[in-house]
Amino acid sequence: MLQREQSEVLNPYEIVQKQIDAAAAKLQLPKHVTELLKKPKRVLSVSFPVRMDDGTVRIFDGYRSQHNDAIGPTKGGIRFHPDVTLDEVKALSMWMTFKCGVVGLPYGGGKGGVICDPRQMSKGELERVSRAFMESIADIVGPERDIPAPDVYTTPQIMGWMMDTYSRLRGHYSPGVITGKPIIIGGSQGRNAATAQGCVYAIQSALEDISLPMEKATVAVQGFGNAGRIAARLLTDLGATVVAVSDSRGGIYDANGLDLNRVEQLKDEATILDYGVQYHISNEQLLELGVDILIPAALENVITKENAPRVQARIIAEAANGPTTPEADAILNEKGCIVIPDILANAGGVTVSYFEWVQNLMNYYWSEEEVLEKLQVNMVKSYDAVRNMAKEYETDLRTAAYMISLQRVTEAMRARGWV
Ligand code: GLU
Repeated sequence: MLQREQSEVLNPYEIVQKQIDAAAAKLQLPKHVTELLKKPKRVLSVSFPVRMDDGTVRIFDGYRSQHNDAIGPTKGGIRFHPDVTLDEVKALSMWMTFKCGVVGLPYGGGKGGVICDPRQMSKGELERVSRAFMESIADIVGPERDIPAPDVYTTPQIMGWMMDTYSRLRGHYSPGVITGKPIIIGGSQGRNAATAQGCVYAIQSALEDISLPMEKATVAVQGFGNAGRIAARLLTDLGATVVAVSDSRGGIYDANGLDLNRVEQLKDEATILDYGVQYHISNEQLLELGVDILIPAALENVITKENAPRVQARIIAEAANGPTTPEADAILNEKGCIVIPDILANAGGVTVSYFEWVQNLMNYYWSEEEVLEKLQVNMVKSYDAVRNMAKEYETDLRTAAYMISLQRVTEAMRARGWV
């Protein structure tokens, strides 16, 4: 473990900088342009007190990073996780810029994070942390400045509390400050499933490329949160066989396919591990299963140069942000694996966030069919553009996706006279 850390860069901030360099070199971008893009424009670090249920006061630390706003306000989720770091939040905000760029949204990238463990907090504590964090960042967010959303361990309810806090501070209802809200207070139809749905549209395009019918495909999903759980459900409904899933506690595997209804029920009641001890596998083993489609839908750096040689999946759809290290990426590409990069594979979430924000600004709401139709059109179009760019420049899908985004953001910066 220690050896691996020494020989491979696992800091997401350094990783995203490498990814920018790779694509910028292909586009021959001037040095000052890449230099500007390799750092966030603004980072806010906050520390705030919260009264816990037992009467004690705990101090929480959090961050909001705004990477680039050449194309529009910055946009991106807020993560609640014990391992949040400033470098991680910065990297995630940069990935958001490129994500919005690749699917053509009029946004730059932002991201927030609070160091905390919602699994160990009561609902009241979670509400107080959510409201206090929004209060701490209220000066730099807003419907025309920076629009947060859900991310790891944050939910529509948390978005609702944050929207309420922001609206109270401003003195008026302001739903456009945050997306991923409950539908009754301005959330969009289809937003909850959007990350998974967008990922499934991308997988369908990749399956067409290798002429593999969905009904014949086997799938392993790492992570059973908003993205992984719903992706497993949607793929099952489309006829694929989900053979393995996992959450932070471990995974389950049945070569004949899991009974997903049961898995979902177990997750709601206690843990997916109650499926049966004979089915248990580790999160590491899940990544190496001989499946057609692997969906890392949890956290960063799970596919490294150490395990990449043993990854067998033909398609890797990155529902998580940053699951593959650059060195692992090279190994997977060498093997001919189709890696649908995070900035494309999980862009469905922010795409429907954009639709939510548009609906909030015009105060006119769309049906679920309308949202899904628009999402599908945009995902398929973006996937085609990335695939064509990869062919033209004889490169992998990730570099191609970055190239499309970099071109866009550079054009906007030039049009504004920044570079
Ligand atoms: N947190 C999600 C992401 O990483 C969604 C961001 C958003 O909807 O703004 O893409």
